[in-house]
Amino acid sequence: MKPAAFDYHAPTTAAEAVALLADLGDEAKIIAGGQSLVPMLALRLAVFDHLVDLRLLDELRGIDTHGDEVRVGAGTTHAAVGRSPEIRRAIPLLHRATPLIGHFQIRNRGTIGGAIAHADAAGEYPAVALTLDAEMQTLSPRGQRTIPAADYFTGMWSTAMAADELLTGITFPAWRGRSGFAIEEFARRAGDFAMAGATIAIRLDADSRIDRVAVGLFGLAPTPLRAVATESELVGRPAAEVDATEVGRSATAALSSVPADIHGSADYRRRIGAVMVARAWTRAVEEASND
Ligand SMILES: Cc1cc2nc3c(=O)[nH]c(=O)nc-3n(C[C@H](O)[C@H](O)[C@H](O)COP(=O)(O)OP(=O)(O)OC[C@H]3O[C@@H](n4cnc5c(N)ncnc54)[C@H](O)[C@@H]3O)c2cc1C
Repeated sequence: MKPAAFDYHAPTTAAEAVALLADLGDEAKIIAGGQSLVPMLALRLAVFDHLVDLRLLDELRGIDTHGDEVRVGAGTTHAAVGRSPEIRRAIPLLHRATPLIGHFQIRNRGTIGGAIAHADAAGEYPAVALTLDAEMQTLSPRGQRTIPAADYFTGMWSTAMAADELLTGITFPAWRGRSGFAIEEFARRAGDFAMAGATIAIRLDADSRIDRVAVGLFGLAPTPLRAVATESELVGRPAAEVDATEVGRSATAALSSVPADIHGSADYRRRIGAVMVARAWTRAVEEASND
């Protein structure tokens, strides 16, 4: 199938894009890399009278370090994120997540802003943003605002952004000290969305006790999640005494809306999720211990 007819708009500034969205209302949709939106249009799962293309907005592209934070422009492609030495050094979890997204053709066109705004519960970047307590910067006719990742993902493919709001950038805080990061996922084929996945960020103190930890889950609920109860139980414990399998079990025990489809039941996905948490835990602790 082909998409239904639409009018095409290519603004040259973010302010112009936002003004267009406000003028055109619900009939308009932003298009960035098109890697999620175009299939939906082609299958007529979504129909819009107007597409507002971000491709001419150079101001949305780029990676900048400010102190202990790295800001990634929403229009930056997955490929540019994956190539960035700044991200590799300061935000290793984001770097490691990137090759797991689709195939290189998708990473060449898909943008981090598109992936975050699309908010697929099985997407890697939403989970990384939540795990690292990233902040989303937006622009709308009402001005700029910053949305913490914890408040941003509100449901299946839905976010706290309004229809006339443009995601302009994502700020990732760098974790200093003896830190380790890992992402693990299980997908049926390389490049597929994960059936279940996990992210771990951990920091150890001088005595190798856990002084900060984040356990992220994706593909296991309508949104990416943090296993906050598990995180609380882990803080203060010597990392070497924590059983990885137990972390996996604890992180997935309370999940109540695990998706099920022809590829796997909710129980199967939960069990995979527990294994992914355990594997990510082991790798992250090893990295932090060697730091
Ligand atoms: C075969 C295939 C496999 C894939 N595998 C994976 C995978 O394993 N993991 C994964 O995470 N993703 C996967 N993807 C999706 C891919 O990562 C997309 O690139 C990404 O989800 C959307 O980015 P985009 O720039 O292409 O956005 P688009 O498709 O252009 O837009 C997606 C949505 O975000 C909105 N949007 C885009 N930019 C902005 C903005 N700046 N402000 C506000 N709203 C905006 C659009 O209106 C639209 O609703 C896959 C895609 C394909 C086709």
